[in-house]
Amino acid sequence: ILYNELQELKGNIRVYCRVRPWLPGQNKEATIVAHTSEDGEIWVSNPSKQVKNEYQTFKFNKVFGSSASQGQVFLEIQPLIRSVLDGFSVCIFAYGQTGSGKTYTMSGPSSGKQDWGVNYRALNELFDISHSRRNSFSYKIQSTSDGLVIPEATLHLVESTSDVLKLMEMGNQNRAVGSTALNESSSRSHSILIVHISGSNLKDGLKFKSYLHLIDLAGSERVERTGATGDRLTEAQYINKSLSALSDVIVALSRKSSHVPYRNSKLTHILQNSLGGHAKTLMLIHVSPEVESYSET
Ligand code: ADP
Ligand code: MG
Repeated sequence: ILYNELQELKGNIRVYCRVRPWLPGQNKEATIVAHTSEDGEIWVSNPSKQVKNEYQTFKFNKVFGSSASQGQVFLEIQPLIRSVLDGFSVCIFAYGQTGSGKTYTMSGPSSGKQDWGVNYRALNELFDISHSRRNSFSYKIQSTSDGLVIPEATLHLVESTSDVLKLMEMGNQNRAVGSTALNESSSRSHSILIVHISGSNLKDGLKFKSYLHLIDLAGSERVERTGATGDRLTEAQYINKSLSALSDVIVALSRKSSHVPYRNSKLTHILQNSLGGHAKTLMLIHVSPEVESYSET
């Protein structure tokens, strides 16, 4: 079954798009009209432009409309997570401007209402499958909130999803948070959770090591919009630089270029072993429905 699932996954890089719903209290009229289709298309139109029926169309491997649940999103990610226990390394990125729903997708709502995101569901899946295969496989799962090439990063052996969530909590407290005109608590850093899996087949003794990277990227908004100055501006420029380095790597990989520019940023350098080769990459693009976000969207 796993083999068939893997055969169904098209290519090693896929790009999904999720449209954030309008939030309670937002003016529904002032939202971009975003229609999504079963086969991965999204049509976007700007109601303030007075041009009726004029849409821009974008195509993805999959699109999730604003009513998609956390469970529906995870269902499309599950086969990737399972492949980690077969020895494939996987990188999942949440990309989008501040406020577009990246943290919601990866961690879940901040409101306390538990509607778990990808991180929690992915870890549960890893632990569930590793337990169910215990007669034929032995797995060791370790988690770190940083890449091993980073000084001061620590590696912890974990036995349950809650062990990992506690580590993430610690990591989040260390995460730099600044404020910009766009969003008071906008995250000005990338959050990277790396899970190391060592597996060995009890029957033939074959061993493997794979990595699962769960990454909540810093906001992709253009510097001009956030009104940043001084340190914030420098920081925003660093963020834009690492995001464009990441996009250069993804483009090079998807075109199967002979040169992949991993060394242009720390982010891509850290991820070098898990981007490309046999590794699988999923970009989860997030878009905001507000009219002001039209150009970013
Ligand atoms: P980002 O991490 O991209 O800055 P957030 O995940 O913090 O954005 O989302 C911004 C706000 O929108 C939060 O209050 C969040 O709870 C809400 N939100 C985002 N996505 C959804 C969704 N799919 N359904 C309901 N609320 C959402
Ligand atoms: Mg966030």
